[in-house]
Amino acid sequence: MDTEVHEIFTSFQGEGGTVSGSCAGCRQVFVRLRGCDVRCDWCDTAHLLGPSGQPALVEATPGSRRREIENPMTPTQVVDAVLALRTPSFHSVSFTGGEPLLHVPFLKKVFTILKKKKLPVFLETNGNDPKAAKKVAKLVDVASVDIKDRTAGAHGDKDWKELVAREVASAVTFKKEGCATYAKLVVTGRTREQDVGYVAGLLAETDVPLAIQPVTPLGDALPPSLRLLLSFADAACERLPVEAVSLSVQGHRQAGFP
Ligand code: SF4
Repeated sequence: MDTEVHEIFTSFQGEGGTVSGSCAGCRQVFVRLRGCDVRCDWCDTAHLLGPSGQPALVEATPGSRRREIENPMTPTQVVDAVLALRTPSFHSVSFTGGEPLLHVPFLKKVFTILKKKKLPVFLETNGNDPKAAKKVAKLVDVASVDIKDRTAGAHGDKDWKELVAREVASAVTFKKEGCATYAKLVVTGRTREQDVGYVAGLLAETDVPLAIQPVTPLGDALPPSLRLLLSFADAACERLPVEAVSLSVQGHRQAGFP
């Protein structure tokens, strides 16, 4: 039940653009968990993909120097840490990673306590495991579900469309359980317009909007040109309503925040 936490801190949600459910610009307490079940070529948290045995780094007050808390942390310890960071501008608690859905028993316990305390839960997931999504969906307020572009390489040597199908199934699960849900597609300079159209076509059958996010440059992964990005937006809007498609940027990164 206890889980290795990487960090708990305060910042603003940078992603999501203007689509329904987006919390872009909202102040959140972030709980970052370790571990992931896929491997994206441009992962910006590659240091979190396995257990570390290191203590969690936890803010005592918003923006303060983080102190070390022994891992694994209990659900109650995590909730207490979140409560210590709640201020008038608090919007929600963002669970991120790594991949939070690798920790379902822990999440169920934490989400249940947060729900009783009326603190909204925002969950960021790679969507790879619809069964895990189903186990927590009733306790989630907002779900940001990744759809991995082919150029992320997250499908490994398997069929990319099978991974996308699982991700869309996860998004549908959250939506059906009443979560505000949106899909996030990180695109690169090598992303194919027809792949964006393919993803948008699947989402069009689900009423889940799409945030298209240029990759933050890492290694060989470079963001698309404006011209390419415009073609992606057009490909998406041929299948989805205009208000269901938005550009998303990692605003916190640009502002120099965690
Ligand atoms: S799903 Fe997220 S945490 Fe996992 S490898 Fe991809 S970018 Fe990294």
